[in-house]
Amino acid sequence: MSGPSGVGKGTVLNKLREGNPNIVPSISATTRPPRVEDTEGVTYFFKTVPEFLKMIDEGKFMEWAEFSENYYGTPLEYVESNLNAGRDVLLEIDVQGALKLRDSNTEGVYIFIAPENLDVLRERLSGRGTEDTEEIERRVKAAEWELTQMNNYDYIVINRVVEDAAREIKNIIDENKAK
Ligand code: 5GP
Repeated sequence: MSGPSGVGKGTVLNKLREGNPNIVPSISATTRPPRVEDTEGVTYFFKTVPEFLKMIDEGKFMEWAEFSENYYGTPLEYVESNLNAGRDVLLEIDVQGALKLRDSNTEGVYIFIAPENLDVLRERLSGRGTEDTEEIERRVKAAEWELTQMNNYDYIVINRVVEDAAREIKNIIDENKAK
């Protein structure tokens, strides 16, 4: 699952997980500094750049990408062990990472969460107060590019009302399982 920064992915995913214990989010590694709401090993595994580069060398990532001047990557082992245990693993990753997986024919359902428009994004990003002006601008720029890529996904879900978006995603998962 991808969607521009500020689209409300976190809120939608939390809603989706309520009552769906079989859906486990993958926990990424990143070199970005933790935010107040971050917890090591829960939201991310926080790494230094050398640590992250070493993990790349050792083949520890299913995919990785550079986003807004930081590295982010999906640990392979965590995803595989959960899939083997019969769980649905949800990767919340940027567009470059998702397209890399797509291009390597990684089986999955690719969902893009879109905002109603760019103004909504900008407002959410400044409203949450976790990024400075420069970082907000960088993320809005990234969002503009990401939105041009949404047709490469299997599904586009517009996040207007959180509950509706979460329900739509749940339906998509069920539909694909039935297939
Ligand atoms: P944030 O800094 O806001 O937590 O995340 C920034 C962006 O990085 C978001 O679009 C998020 O989906 C993406 N991201 C988080 N983890 C990963 C990952 O493991 N791989 C990739 N490619 N992107 C990630």
